[in-house]
Amino acid sequence: MATKYVVILGSLMSGLGKGVLTASILRILDLYGYSALPIKFDGYLNFDCGTMNPYQHGEVFVLDDSSEVDMDFGIYERFLGRSLTGDLSITGGKLFGSIISKERQGKYLGETVQIIPHLTDQIIRNIENIAKAKKPDVFVVEVGGTVGDIENSYFIEAMRQLSLSHEVVFINLTYLPTLDVVGEQKTKPAQIGLRLLLQDGIRPNFIICRTASKLLDSTKEKLALFANLDKERIIDDQDQATLYNLPLHFIATGFDRLLLSDLGLNVKRLDRRKSSEWKENVRKTVSPKGEVNIALVGKYTHLRDSYASVKEAIVHAASINDVRANISWIESSDFEKKGCDYSALSRSDAIIVTGGFGNRGTEGMINIIRHARENHVPYLGLCLGMQLMAVEYARNVAGLQGANSTEFDKEARHRIIVLLDSQKRITQKGGTMRLGAQECVLLERSSIAYKSYGTGMISERHRHRYEFNNRYATTLKKCGLKITGVTKDRKLVEFIEWSTGFGIGTQSHPELKSRFGRPAPLFASLIAAAKENHVRKDLNR
Ligand code: GLN
Repeated sequence: MATKYVVILGSLMSGLGKGVLTASILRILDLYGYSALPIKFDGYLNFDCGTMNPYQHGEVFVLDDSSEVDMDFGIYERFLGRSLTGDLSITGGKLFGSIISKERQGKYLGETVQIIPHLTDQIIRNIENIAKAKKPDVFVVEVGGTVGDIENSYFIEAMRQLSLSHEVVFINLTYLPTLDVVGEQKTKPAQIGLRLLLQDGIRPNFIICRTASKLLDSTKEKLALFANLDKERIIDDQDQATLYNLPLHFIATGFDRLLLSDLGLNVKRLDRRKSSEWKENVRKTVSPKGEVNIALVGKYTHLRDSYASVKEAIVHAASINDVRANISWIESSDFEKKGCDYSALSRSDAIIVTGGFGNRGTEGMINIIRHARENHVPYLGLCLGMQLMAVEYARNVAGLQGANSTEFDKEARHRIIVLLDSQKRITQKGGTMRLGAQECVLLERSSIAYKSYGTGMISERHRHRYEFNNRYATTLKKCGLKITGVTKDRKLVEFIEWSTGFGIGTQSHPELKSRFGRPAPLFASLIAAAKENHVRKDLNR
């Protein structure tokens, strides 16, 4: 079967949930037994997300193959339950880069190189080549930005041209505001958005409407008229109790069957077992039996998208443990002054210190880790959170005053965390960290790490330049710090643990591989420990 395409185009504004819509369609196709893969287009001229500030753009997501991609890839993987590859991410930077390099090589000799046809042809060829290599039944293409932007206009034109020779279903995601005073769903902005798309020569097969409440029949009729569509092709995408319910919501509204028949696919293949499993996980997420309080410590907490994967990994792990996780977002720099207020931390059943770069907030993180260790609060340190766990231990248990990472103090007296050897001569910033899937060996069967994964050989994704300094291994081990995981060649430390209570740090980012229904093992164990802590606190009250 030739690969078919679903192209998702957003109108009016960003933040409507195009990523979740794309992921839900991928999930639906998968539930019907079709192989579906995403393609994401981003118009910016960066080659990839590697050098982008999480404050501006949300988290940088890392794939097994070490690509640093848009955070939407995290949503796709969490819904689809499979690992994706970097070639599925197409950026303006990659496209223009390759066109200009081809021009310099003389590949267009004599021609005037233009957006149409050269760039648009290049996009179509790119996509056809990935289809040839991966042979999915369906590609779901998410076009970043909104219709009418200069940045994505040439890509939208390429999609129009793609539809001339391939089977393509276009979906327009739009927004219907409800004005408080009149309580009416307003369609005018959506009409204007649609008109822009029609000007581009694309008539959508479906209009998906983001609304705060159920889409009214009268609203559907009005939009259907303007769009030349049947009423049932105006689809309700109202706020959900959890975003993981969206595929089920679409199945309940009948959107799944219309979409499949537009694609010429069999509508009778829904995998009942898989879909009831998904339903059960949604139920556990929406109405769990218990609850836990988790402190999420970081330095970019004002933009929560910076920690999207960590937050979702908590949601997945909570759902498996049948609890709701109430997350307190803790800005680490608030914990740098003497006499700061620890009450939010005291209410927490577990503490997570997340990854990050640069000095700001790191002393606050160290204070918080000390609080966790001394008060026996279950602790999980992710990348920077592991590095600072080692620094805290060196300073406050081993008595190594002036212990630090050389990222923050080049002249530190005790350099517990140092630049990786492989990083010392690197000057270029993009794509040069220790990145992607790396294998780790877990050393002790009785460790938190081994018990969580249930195996001694694992693989997790990485994104860092600094590492634990092995010269301090013996001293810290003597003081009770456990090294429970190392790289396959045994040269780098990957996991450390406190010898009492639940405290573990990992150089990796296990949150990047957490999936709905299949949480990252360390998060599952942390939430289980938090649950015990919560019950214990209740009993003592
Ligand atoms: N800044 C640290 C390093 O580069 C930690 C990175 C991270 O937390 N992702 O090693």
